[in-house]
Amino acid sequence: GSTIGILGGGQLGRMLSMAAARLGYRCHIYEPGAAPAADVAHARTQAPYEDLDALRRFAESCDLITYEFENIPAASLDVLAETTPLFPDRRALEVSQDRLTEKTFLAGLGLATAPFAPIDTPDDLPAALAATGTPAILKTRRFGYDGKGQARVMTPEDAPAALATLQGAPAIAEGFVRFSREISVIAARGRDGSVAAYDPGENVHVDGILSTTTVPAALPLKLRTDAVLVASRILTALDYTGVMGVELFVTPQGLVVNEIAPRVHNSGHWTQAGCAVDQFEQHIRAIAGWPLGNGARHANVVMENLIGADVARAVPLAAEPGVQVHLYGKAQARPGRKMGHVNRVTGPA
Ligand code: ATP
Ligand code: MG
Ligand code: MG
Repeated sequence: GSTIGILGGGQLGRMLSMAAARLGYRCHIYEPGAAPAADVAHARTQAPYEDLDALRRFAESCDLITYEFENIPAASLDVLAETTPLFPDRRALEVSQDRLTEKTFLAGLGLATAPFAPIDTPDDLPAALAATGTPAILKTRRFGYDGKGQARVMTPEDAPAALATLQGAPAIAEGFVRFSREISVIAARGRDGSVAAYDPGENVHVDGILSTTTVPAALPLKLRTDAVLVASRILTALDYTGVMGVELFVTPQGLVVNEIAPRVHNSGHWTQAGCAVDQFEQHIRAIAGWPLGNGARHANVVMENLIGADVARAVPLAAEPGVQVHLYGKAQARPGRKMGHVNRVTGPA
């Protein structure tokens, strides 16, 4: 059978491997850390993302390569591409690796984003905040996740101290969006250009980390449709192959795109209990050239992340009817660490 290479050995890589195995593929995980969550794969390389020789050997062992981690250096992508196709391709990675490139791309499609401006040095702050207004959020341009690398600015006087907490990293300022809800759309595009989207989910974050996703989102039909149209617009513009997560704010003026993730997404885990083809199988189908699942939902679902010590709730939760438990096999339950999730079926769709 063919071998799918996956860059990144976290829980997303684990669940992708399991879906790929179901479709008859072997998986080879490339992960710098020891004892990855994705230790369910057939083969594993433990090496840094900058180790070009290890990457070359990895690529030669794979028929196609995908990723669950988007901060792969450009030189590493070049090495992979010498021998093996990469899906989603490097444009999707490059657009989404950097918040400035990402927002510029989204705004260029005519989609609504928060007002934004680049900040390279403290001297840029006055002009940037004039563009975004206050309150604003300063974010590192690269490597941020779970709300890390962000600082709120209530007044222009706060800004230098807030920027200092980002430790000199290139940053972006974003105007604060007064949203009523946060939603996300998980959508897929196949190698033949076909697109399938799941229903938008409603996301609640606690301390910057996704806590729950609920489907259906409490959203008028018009906005549900808008959200799916926004996602397919983005996929098509990137000539994208695979699953993408698109995070949106709901505002009185309509939808505002927050960020995109060129991979399966935590807010799409509900599809494991809500859809015949979940986001992980959908991604493998998309990159391997299979027909896409249609995204139809047969159940209402609440996904809840088990973070840190929450993992102790897994067994009691498993005793409740309609609860599906997923644990990632991580040894240490550090605070803020995603240890697993549960999908609770709350009724038929
Ligand atoms: P993720 O873990 O989803 O990748 P992240 O670290 O990349 O998160 P963002 O999604 O940009 O960060 O921001 C985290 C959260 O902070 C958002 O879900 C939202 O609640 C809030 N937030 C971010 N940007 C804005 C904004 N411009 N206006 C208002 N709230 C915002
Ligand atoms: Mg993000
Ligand atoms: Mg986010």
